[in-house]
Amino acid sequence: MKILFLDQSGKPGGAELCLIDIAKPYRDRSLVGLFADGDFKTLLQQNQIPVEVLTTKPIQVKKQSNLFQALASFQQLIPLLIKVVKIAKKYDLIYANTQKALVIGALASVLSRRPLVYHLHDILSLEHFSPINLRVAVTLANTFASLVIANSQASQTAFTQAGGKAEITAIVYNGFASKNYQIPEAEIKQIQQELDLESKFVIGHFSRIAPWKGQHILIAALAKCPPQVTAILVGDALFGEQNYAQELHQQVKTLGLENRVKFLGFRADIPQLMSACNIVTHTSTAPEPFGRVIVEAMLCGTPVIAAKAGGAMELVEHGVNGFLTTPGDSKELAKVINTCREEIEITATIANNARNIASQRFDIATINQQIAQLLSSGN
Ligand code: UDP
Repeated sequence: MKILFLDQSGKPGGAELCLIDIAKPYRDRSLVGLFADGDFKTLLQQNQIPVEVLTTKPIQVKKQSNLFQALASFQQLIPLLIKVVKIAKKYDLIYANTQKALVIGALASVLSRRPLVYHLHDILSLEHFSPINLRVAVTLANTFASLVIANSQASQTAFTQAGGKAEITAIVYNGFASKNYQIPEAEIKQIQQELDLESKFVIGHFSRIAPWKGQHILIAALAKCPPQVTAILVGDALFGEQNYAQELHQQVKTLGLENRVKFLGFRADIPQLMSACNIVTHTSTAPEPFGRVIVEAMLCGTPVIAAKAGGAMELVEHGVNGFLTTPGDSKELAKVINTCREEIEITATIANNARNIASQRFDIATINQQIAQLLSSGN
């Protein structure tokens, strides 16, 4: 099957990293069309996945845009649409991986008479989207998509609660190659040395810098932990969240944690860094659609504490393969961190369980098979 994948982002967020794994089996006969240039294009090229940047003009509409802003952006989309329609005619299927890709993909699907699949990586709720954007996404998916692949039960539920047709949806979790997360001891030691983490109890946070990802909750929790507990914050402000990044630096200063928090920016060596941590925390204050970082920490064998909402609740069973805390509650987070420090053996058993369960449940080969079956049966 020849697939035209569409994604609006030039930057590699979770949806984009997932798309690399999905597009790989089709790379000899498919194309990824992007609506922005950037590091994501380079990553696709490194994976020998054909990629073309279809526009370099930023699409102005944002997740929180109102009707007027959304309509104003429409005119700007026409040259892009014409291009996509022309390309789509050479492919069997359009696979929209993001919201703006859905808008273009839906119209292109009608004009090129190609079926449309929408991979839903978001929780379509008012916490994340403006009412108009939400309505547009649901209406386009209902009207034009033959299949909506939801990345979790939480995303599927939000879609149907917003008016999406349940019968066109299927839930498929992100897949991972567990061998990529088995890091030799020598490499872990080296990274601990490089980052001066030896003899410290290290909490890792791996996420783009954004208020709802809740880095501030971890910093507040850290202030309630003993001095040997330190944190590394890995990730960049990918979508213009510079103010929040500055607030985090200020919070660290105010709490006198300068020697206990390292901001590492965007990194490509996530498995190595996660393996060098004693705990990985996930602190999103709004429900997480899936939470790739949670599964990745599990595959590294590092205990994970996640915020109890959305997709995270499908990944973590408290006390079995990780720990769950109330979103936004730094006191509870500090308490669980300290319990993990004290109860080393139980925590290690839980992390080991997590690794075993995750390597089977999220096995990339199985997940890719599920996707292949869905694509061939529905279209
Ligand atoms: N990630 C990365 N480098 C970083 C920070 C994050 O490669 O510096 C990756 C992380 O390993 C994960 C993805 O970005 O695979 C984030 O996905 P997640 O589902 O956790 O969040 P999203 O970005 O989709 O909201």
